[in-house]
Amino acid sequence: MKSSSTARRSPAEQRALRDLEAIRKLIAPLSPPVASFEASIRSTPFRILVSVLLSARTQDPVTEAAAARLFAAADTPGKMSRLAEARIARLIYPVGFYRTKARHILGVCAALESRRGFPATRGQLLELPGIGRKSANLVLALAFRRPAIAVDTHVFRISRRLGWAKGDAPVEVEKELELLFPRRRWSEVNQILVGFGQTICRPVHPKCRECALNRTCPSAKIL
Ligand code: SF4
Repeated sequence: MKSSSTARRSPAEQRALRDLEAIRKLIAPLSPPVASFEASIRSTPFRILVSVLLSARTQDPVTEAAAARLFAAADTPGKMSRLAEARIARLIYPVGFYRTKARHILGVCAALESRRGFPATRGQLLELPGIGRKSANLVLALAFRRPAIAVDTHVFRISRRLGWAKGDAPVEVEKELELLFPRRRWSEVNQILVGFGQTICRPVHPKCRECALNRTCPSAKIL
């Protein structure tokens, strides 16, 4: 017998939930880089925030190593704000845009030191230098377990391939996913789809033959 919450969901919503669960099981034994990265930063909101800032346009293993070097040198906003911008840039190299990110990190540290309490809403996070909507949502999900869907390049691509979303912009896809999934699952969507994108549903040459969804995915290529 279906639960009342399941009975209320549309066929598309039920299919999306089944797809998400199938993806989660498929990638679990593959140890995608995102799992190691997120495990490594699950400590303080500050560490999560800085690591998310470092992760833009950068592969997870590179981000993980850069964050480890930076936090070994300074592990609080006060200590980090006393590092020279050039030193931060050297510590985080070779993450993408390392010079800009070094400047943003100092701006974030200055903002954190000047305010009471850690920024814990999307609006407060968006006021920080270098933090856009995707990064803010990721911090909300990882640091505070708030319902938020961070739509990065993997989430955007895979949602459209699977027919979950049609939007041409990340914020449109985010809204479509929010309608498709119950709030309690929002914070998982990013990690599951990023891991899937790193291992199976890759940007080019997706491994459709190895994919558990290849019978129903409208973008499957298994000729
Ligand atoms: S069948 Fe191919 S395109 Fe569709 S979700 Fe799986 S890997 Fe991606």
